[in-house]
Amino acid sequence: MENKLHFYNTLTRTVETFIPNEEGKVAMYTCGPTVYHFAHIGNLRSYIMEDLLEKTLRYLGYDVKRVMNITDVGHLSSDADTGEDKMLKGAKREHKSVMEIARFYTDAFFSDCGKLNIKTPDVVEPATNCIPEFIHMIQTLIEKGYAYEQGGNIYFDTSRLKEYYVLSNHSEQELLVGVRDDVDEDANKRNKSDFVLWFTKSKFDDQELKWESPWGLGYPGWHIECSCISMKHLGEYMDIHCGGVDNLFPHHTNEIAQSESYLGHKWCNYWFHIHHLVEKGKTGKMSKSSGEFLTVSLLENKGYDPVVYRMFCLQSHYRKPLEFSYEVLDNMTATYEKLAKRIGTLRREGEVDQEKYDAYRGRFEQALCDDLNSSMAITVLYDMLKEDMSDATKYALAEDFDRVLSLNLTTAYAAKNDKQQVDAELESYILAKIEERKAAKKEKDFARADAIRAELQEKGILLEDTREGVKWKKA
Ligand code: AMP
Ligand code: ZN
Repeated sequence: MENKLHFYNTLTRTVETFIPNEEGKVAMYTCGPTVYHFAHIGNLRSYIMEDLLEKTLRYLGYDVKRVMNITDVGHLSSDADTGEDKMLKGAKREHKSVMEIARFYTDAFFSDCGKLNIKTPDVVEPATNCIPEFIHMIQTLIEKGYAYEQGGNIYFDTSRLKEYYVLSNHSEQELLVGVRDDVDEDANKRNKSDFVLWFTKSKFDDQELKWESPWGLGYPGWHIECSCISMKHLGEYMDIHCGGVDNLFPHHTNEIAQSESYLGHKWCNYWFHIHHLVEKGKTGKMSKSSGEFLTVSLLENKGYDPVVYRMFCLQSHYRKPLEFSYEVLDNMTATYEKLAKRIGTLRREGEVDQEKYDAYRGRFEQALCDDLNSSMAITVLYDMLKEDMSDATKYALAEDFDRVLSLNLTTAYAAKNDKQQVDAELESYILAKIEERKAAKKEKDFARADAIRAELQEKGILLEDTREGVKWKKA
């Protein structure tokens, strides 16, 4: 490993050299989606940039173990432990059970990730799988004097900590205002910043999923999930914890509080946060709970290739807010298609110039090591395509860079041509069938005409007789 990875550690508020606990190995954790709705492209920006981090680490030769939770219980509509469970809200909206909703949107999430070439983490664990682990951690926190029971719920006592706001230099008051939808104060809390570890009595007593616990029938708070699930699979020491900036407070702040109180030592060395995607002309971040948001399917329905959205994200730095607009995505589509054609038409035969290969690989690595400068890494790709060297060298480098960029650099052009060919073949087949049907009708062979219509319908093609002639469309 020649180049050392540097990135911004929110914990120390500086760009640091990454040094893992165990040489050559990385224990990495990602806050997973709350599966009550489709992921919006803002959520997916975070997952794309986390994927970039993971793939950079692997590219540099690290053996990475990445764990992600699926939040299928406990995430209330306000981060301040008030409001309804988001999963229950989703279930009511769709007249389904919470578990049906969870299954559906978990599958939808991974399908979106697949389209964006986001690698599935090595371990994916739904929160509802880990109730005994949550109960054990809460029990230990009570025994150690860090948690208390009040009004039927178990709370973490933040006044027991020497330092609670370790992840931010904001004042306590500012952070409390930062708690979204902070409407009701919970009178059970001893301190304003205390948070729920286990609910038996929330304002909403129609919670569908409940489990037996030493404190009665109830369900876990959201923050405890990530502490337990990460420790279950990564042990007591973690290298990198990731999430969007909205997770910084209270979620990650609370994760640190409870994890380090439970363990009695420092838990995670590096915190990696991604800034938000915002929509041009709209104020605030894109939000799932508002119900109005952009999804990968929506982009696809509008004719965009999801990988173009990935390229759009990689062209900006993870520590800057990113503004989405269709104009920018249109430009990115044109840029991407040109790039894919350029690489797709390289001749693969011939010698690889090892010296030039190594030099460009080094430059690419350097860009990534410089606080994950992905747009610079793409510039290195363009520079190398312009360089005077064999096509074989360029092709080999594009293939190598794509281990991190994951933009289908060497396959997109051929795939597009194949698709165009398939589309053209399909169209000529349909047009021939339409002619055949016309002839059958002329001969008053209506049974044959109907059979042709049915044959096409079976292939997902619908015919429509209009005044201008027969038209077809995909079902
Ligand atoms: P959620 O499913 O709401 O728990 O969020 C999943 C991930 O998306 C978390 O890491 C959030 O921090 C992140 N996130 C939420 N909104 C945005 C946004 N507008 N832009 C980027 N990341 C976001
Ligand atoms: Zn989390």
